[in-house]
Amino acid sequence: MEKQARIYVAGHRGMVGSAIVRKLQAEGYDTILTRTSSELDLRDQRAVANFFETEQPEFVFLAAAKVGGIMANNTYRADFLYDNLMIESNIIHSAYKTGVRKLLFLGSSCIYPKLAPQPLKEEYLLSGLLEETNEPYAIAKITGIKLCESYRSQYGCNFISAMPTNLYGPNDNYDLQGSHVLPALIRKFHEAKVNDQPVVEVWGTGSPMREFLHADDLAAACFFLMEQYNDDLFVNVGTGEDVTIRQLAEMVKETVGFEGELRWNTDKPDGTPRKLMDVSRLHALGWKHTTELKDGLERTYQDFLANEVLYV
Ligand code: GDP
Repeated sequence: MEKQARIYVAGHRGMVGSAIVRKLQAEGYDTILTRTSSELDLRDQRAVANFFETEQPEFVFLAAAKVGGIMANNTYRADFLYDNLMIESNIIHSAYKTGVRKLLFLGSSCIYPKLAPQPLKEEYLLSGLLEETNEPYAIAKITGIKLCESYRSQYGCNFISAMPTNLYGPNDNYDLQGSHVLPALIRKFHEAKVNDQPVVEVWGTGSPMREFLHADDLAAACFFLMEQYNDDLFVNVGTGEDVTIRQLAEMVKETVGFEGELRWNTDKPDGTPRKLMDVSRLHALGWKHTTELKDGLERTYQDFLANEVLYV
């Protein structure tokens, strides 16, 4: 990407999109196109087509999506499927129509079958049944991968896909009903600490395992792939290391400095038992993460403290 290239970051206010914008700015790119959701509804086919025709982006990072944790995915099943299908279809088709030079689509580790062997290799896609709680979201994300592959094979578009593991970092969602586990725990432990609450409720059994990647690492990987990778196979992006939810809870508790007890509410779902990425393809390409979970948690708690009024 030349420094003057016109780059559209879809979803620039989200955790991933904002990290990509920070990375591009740090690399000296100054023609970064962005639209808020009120300026451009990405579910609106005509509006998206007009945007691409008028602005003529050359490179696209497709980081816009309707996202959420286990409860949100399981409750708003229609919205997670419809919104994500529309966003992806509109952007990918418009990118083809207007001759975008390269597009990077962001998926999710939940595209893999619930009981796939671990760690998850890219070739396990579509080898078994999905996890029930986020099946609509996963189906939409699988469709995004297939759109990129299909526009590449039929029309020769240079559209690639990256599958990030669970992410955390600045601009995360801290709403306790809608968020993922890591921001939820930061908020719960922090509020319990400041309110002198003796007990914090945590969901499930604590035994599921999850891998966590800092959003700045993901942004660096996306930039790397945009510069270096031109193949139709999608690429997992993660650390290749995971922890149990119980271990995560202990780490967040320590980071925040909460001294009370945890109560595990097993009426809440556990979700997938494990989803650890196999990152050997990414490592072989020459990229590895730099932020370890402990440091990343510390940075994220500091960011939460600095922006609490915006986040909660
Ligand atoms: P998932 O990775 O798609 O399953 O989504 P989450 O990040 O929402 O949940 C991961 C795991 O953390 C699940 O086993 C949840 O039950 C567990 N968990 C424990 N406490 C919480 C919490 O306060 N919020 C959320 N979202 N998950 C929690």
